[in-house]
Amino acid sequence: MTKYGEVQQHYGRIKNLVGGSFRDSQSGEMLPVTNPATGQTIAEVPLSTKQEVAEAVAAAKKAFLAWRETPPMRRVQHLFRLKDLLEAHLEELARIVTQEEGKALEEARGEVRRAIETTEMACGIPTLMAGRNLEDVAPGIDEHEVRQPLGVFCQIAPFNFPAMIPFWFLPYAVACGNTYVVKPSEQVPLTQSRIATLIQEAGFPPGVVNMVNGAKDVVDALLEHPDIRGASFVGSTPVARYVYSKATAQGKRAQCHAGAKNFLVVMPDADMRGTIDALISSIFGSAGERCLAGSVVMPIGLAYEPVKAELMGAARSLRVGYGLDPATQMGPVISRRHLERVHHYIEQGVQEGARLLLDGRDIRVPGFEEGYFVGPTVFDEVRPDMAIAKEEIFGPVACLMPARDLEEAIGVIEASRYGNAASIFTTNGGHAREFQHRVTCGNIGINVGIPAPVAPFPFSGMRESFFGDLHGQGLDSINFFTERKIVITRWAGKEYQPFRAKA
Ligand code: NAD
Repeated sequence: MTKYGEVQQHYGRIKNLVGGSFRDSQSGEMLPVTNPATGQTIAEVPLSTKQEVAEAVAAAKKAFLAWRETPPMRRVQHLFRLKDLLEAHLEELARIVTQEEGKALEEARGEVRRAIETTEMACGIPTLMAGRNLEDVAPGIDEHEVRQPLGVFCQIAPFNFPAMIPFWFLPYAVACGNTYVVKPSEQVPLTQSRIATLIQEAGFPPGVVNMVNGAKDVVDALLEHPDIRGASFVGSTPVARYVYSKATAQGKRAQCHAGAKNFLVVMPDADMRGTIDALISSIFGSAGERCLAGSVVMPIGLAYEPVKAELMGAARSLRVGYGLDPATQMGPVISRRHLERVHHYIEQGVQEGARLLLDGRDIRVPGFEEGYFVGPTVFDEVRPDMAIAKEEIFGPVACLMPARDLEEAIGVIEASRYGNAASIFTTNGGHAREFQHRVTCGNIGINVGIPAPVAPFPFSGMRESFFGDLHGQGLDSINFFTERKIVITRWAGKEYQPFRAKA
């Protein structure tokens, strides 16, 4: 182990997993994988070829016939083993997440835990996948529904949850009897690469789970492949829109989770201490790189002064540093390019007339001068028409936008193109009820800053934060990954007369 407990300093060239064996990509194109806290290259990831995508899909297709015939109770034995392996390797995986993504170690442990929880949920497939039946829909006629897997599914993952997000889909897809191709984010391929070795160790038959590394070309090759039956995507809104239209135009199923702009409304009656803790974690946790991250804080009336004062105090005292340092509360953003994007938004906020109360641009983290750090940043006097109030910044930037009353706040939220999450902080049930009833967002927090649904519930999303109808996770997954077949049965004829009860 090194000073900070990295699992390895350099992970070499990432391999693909095809048909049960790890293979070097034949592509000559490689991208560096960078530790965002140090700026150092820690691996190389291939931009795999169309041919390699075709080989992975062919391996998945070949594995499908036997896998779908494997009884669900036997299929989930592999997931039980995988769950145990993920538990046993939780700390190691969390350290890899932090090393490649940058988030603080405690947050990384939390996301690996979430991946374990979805695996546990999928272990219930023998019950969850069961169909329904109804006897005597007409005299002597019964009807029942069976759920069947469809074939090969694929997944296109974002950078910000290297362990958790691929597991919103993978365990359900294979538990239902489908076979799978994962394309991790090219910015963070290490966690899934390590998990792929655990998948092998869990004894899944060759070809049930495959992994192909790369970027846009791999995505296009997957979406154009005739044997891919459906795609799960998580990432930014423009790419989600592209993936959704391309997949559905080819007759594939698609569920595409997209970008966000999340609002946090604080009523004057809120419990201020708990609220500030929740705001800080929502806005600055994972350096603001969560699709549920709070971005615009709307204190109502008298809540404005205390929220501003407390938020500033708490933001100033956050310890920014390398996520593997136990003292760190907030790590770097993912890349130099993304750091520049966040800086650009801060500059734009200033140009548009917002008041910059705390500027995170000039932060220095001793010993990590090459890292991509943005300090906690707070704007005041933000107006709804400003870019920083409307667009996704995906960085540690709080925008204070005071509002007269709840009505005005709901009006601002409803004007947003996004609908991922919104939270209200209040001790008044009437306010909370009004908020949850009227706000067009998929995930609503009531005195909760990060309203992240747990495994039995779908991870929702509305408006331009989601394209599709069946979301990731929970029971939506079972519908997404199965086809329903309805069987109508009559056993009647000369030899057999249906039973009739005597009056
Ligand atoms: P991204 O859209 O840049 O990339 C996501 C995936 O798409 C990657 O695997 C990438 O290789 C691929 N990709 C990128 N450009 C492509 C193109 N032109 N054509 C085809 N494929 C392409 O997203 P990101 O920066 O990795 O992730 C951050 C974004 O994800 C944020 O917008 C965030 O809000 C969103 N996100 C949403 C949710 C949700 O549940 N709604 C969850 C997590 C992240």
